[in-house]
Amino acid sequence: MPKAFDKGFRWVTDPSVQAEDEPDTPKESAENEPAVEASPAPKKAPVQGTGQPNQGTISAWRPARSEPVINFVDSLIATAVNEGASDIHIEPREKELHVRLRIDGVLFQKPAPPIKMHPAIISRLKILANLDISERRLPQDGRIRANVSGKKVDLRISMLPLSHGEKCVIRVLDSSAISVGLEKLGMSDKTLEAFRSEILQPHGIVLVTGPTGSGKSTTLYSALQVMDGTSLNICTVEDPVEYDLASINQVQVHESIGMTFAAALRSLLRQDPDTIMVGEIRDEETARVAVQAALTGHLVLSTLHTNDAPSSITRLVDIGIESYLISAAVNGALAQRLLRRICEHCKEPMTTVPESTTAYLEKYSDQTGQLYCGTGCEICRNTGYKGRIGIYELLVLNQELRDIITRTPSLGDLKAAAKNQGMRTLRDDGLAKAFQGLTTVDELIRITES
Ligand SMILES: [Zn+2]
Repeated sequence: MPKAFDKGFRWVTDPSVQAEDEPDTPKESAENEPAVEASPAPKKAPVQGTGQPNQGTISAWRPARSEPVINFVDSLIATAVNEGASDIHIEPREKELHVRLRIDGVLFQKPAPPIKMHPAIISRLKILANLDISERRLPQDGRIRANVSGKKVDLRISMLPLSHGEKCVIRVLDSSAISVGLEKLGMSDKTLEAFRSEILQPHGIVLVTGPTGSGKSTTLYSALQVMDGTSLNICTVEDPVEYDLASINQVQVHESIGMTFAAALRSLLRQDPDTIMVGEIRDEETARVAVQAALTGHLVLSTLHTNDAPSSITRLVDIGIESYLISAAVNGALAQRLLRRICEHCKEPMTTVPESTTAYLEKYSDQTGQLYCGTGCEICRNTGYKGRIGIYELLVLNQELRDIITRTPSLGDLKAAAKNQGMRTLRDDGLAKAFQGLTTVDELIRITES
């Protein structure tokens, strides 16, 4: 079991849960669940998506009742938050329980309690998230708000029944992590200046693109924070609304009742918006409304899943938008990835460069200079990396590019034209950051060449 958790830990949960006097000794087997189940409080329907989070305050830290289950759950969450994990996985296998944390994009195994504690751990989490603890055959989603060492943390709980019991994945949404500010995301000065000028345009579409987990939301939230929420009507359509932003109107998508991205966007357009952030453009309908919004004097920020910036243009063509509309509506596209940052505590100049790095440099770079790596220390769990830094590729549409797009170009044409105009690719930016000693070429290869 992990070491005793931080006493600064405090649950923020439903007053009704408090009233029932906390889970009555969640013991180490499923047989004890009915006792908890019989309590009146968590009888609500399963919370779906971003259903109502628990509100109110109780202190779950009760040394007098040093329950193994309560302690384990509290300690696990405190550890995850303190180590900067983005996700916690609690996975039942046939004979043992696995607990893993995702830190800087990579999963790490943690010491786990015996498998017999698994049902009680799951029940404990369900109670905290206001889920139906008697339902073990269907997936459930919920939300917990917790306070860990004075830090407000939102936890998204997802339960999925597997062959050996329910697997729980907890996404840790740390609101302090998104208010980092545009200038701290790791953009080069030139990219930052150009991107800032794109998001301060009065109208047009600015796309942020990359795979899941590449930091697109953080970039968009940081962009919204640059804008003046007092003099502008800034609205977002999200699925789910991940972070609450001050002075911004956030709309939650509910596909099941017809509140799709496109429907929400259409309604927002009747709400006198200036800037609209659309969580994601996934279909033609949403893309079309976004284009119309951009062409009628609104600034639209959104994300796509493409590998690079020029591909976001051809993706819109593939979705079904006419190229002359794309050419007129889109201002720019930013592709991004997150690379692990070399640990500052064990960083050293590289004396021998791995073969993979040499081969990559020969192929793609004419730059020379000192490269660095982390040798591994306690602070970085011996990985040599601590924290992450973004690499960026910004495509800004000028008249020449717009003309090319109107002619429905191939991706190759577009990439060539963008490069001719000096667009710095993800690879260029990653290599520059490796030579600045911020990351390694190995990490660049791992993230961009797979
Ligand atoms: Zn280190």
